[in-house]
Amino acid sequence: MPFRPSKVILPATREEASESLEALGGGAVIIAGGTMLFRLRDSGLLDHVEALVDLSRLGLSYVRGDAVVAIGSYTPLSDVYRWIASDPRRGRALGALADAIMSMPGWQIRNMATVGGSASIGMPQSDIATSLLALGARARISGPSGERVVDLRDYMAAPLSPSLGSGEFLSELVIEQPIGASAHEKFVVSDIDHPIASASAHLALADDGSVASARIALGGGLRRSVVLESPRALVGRVPDEGVLEEIQGLARDSVDPLDDFVASAEYRRHLAGVMARRAVARAYARAGGSAR
Ligand SMILES: Cc1cc2nc3c(=O)[nH]c(=O)nc-3n(C[C@H](O)[C@H](O)[C@H](O)COP(=O)(O)OP(=O)(O)OC[C@H]3O[C@@H](n4cnc5c(N)ncnc54)[C@H](O)[C@@H]3O)c2cc1C
Repeated sequence: MPFRPSKVILPATREEASESLEALGGGAVIIAGGTMLFRLRDSGLLDHVEALVDLSRLGLSYVRGDAVVAIGSYTPLSDVYRWIASDPRRGRALGALADAIMSMPGWQIRNMATVGGSASIGMPQSDIATSLLALGARARISGPSGERVVDLRDYMAAPLSPSLGSGEFLSELVIEQPIGASAHEKFVVSDIDHPIASASAHLALADDGSVASARIALGGGLRRSVVLESPRALVGRVPDEGVLEEIQGLARDSVDPLDDFVASAEYRRHLAGVMARRAVARAYARAGGSAR
């Protein structure tokens, strides 16, 4: 039977949400902005779904915090962008997330799509997820036995199949210590498609302008996202052309790219390196560093 859910459930509390999800099991799917569900409606993947569970009455739309930033899972990406853009320090530290949001095709999608929906699709193609991985985001999960917090990497277990137990849902994304600067880069074939390669980089600089710590996330057309934690090629060094060349090679060798009619694996591998190099260079410039 085609995707034609007969019920929309709007729980008023987290407990009700968990009870509904537990009771409906695989017959229910959470709907946030609905932009991915809409895209998938004719794919056959949702044909078993009888009920949509809409968590919009649970108060999960907010961005707050300074030393620790908490983003409610139902927050539209446009609200996240405005919050980041309203403060230059946030613009530097969370620049990768702001870049990723602005790289999406148009405000209609930014107004509908949520940060939680973007993390829950579990796809390396998501620019939002790639930027959150570089920012070291963690996922707060609510469920029948309370809350637990896991690395976003672990939450994004498989496409459209986040790591959730019965009755659980993503309630919040948490970014600890948003310091330093970050940036996101992507390569697209057409403006309304997801990237065939993307990279986000987050850097913290030492007083002498060298890189004190770094995290680079690689996404786009890959079998799985890749996170490079403080690569030796970068830490303790100033990212001049030689260092950027090494980062490009490291990223190129770290990915497991798709190979299809859109782009060959070889081309995607090359682009992974180029995107990583550009993301590091832009994050470094945003942090106020100068390699010259
Ligand atoms: C034309 C178009 C172009 C796009 N281009 C880009 C792009 O270039 N880059 C980019 O990053 N994104 C892009 N997107 C957005 C992206 O593809 C997803 O559609 C979007 O991120 C999903 O967010 P949503 O809130 O609409 O989620 P939904 O479609 O509502 O849900 C997506 C999935 O997440 C699950 N889910 C949602 N919320 C929760 C929760 N709280 N807990 C557990 N599971 C949950 C749902 O059950 C579903 O499986 C584009 C979308 C469109 C329509």
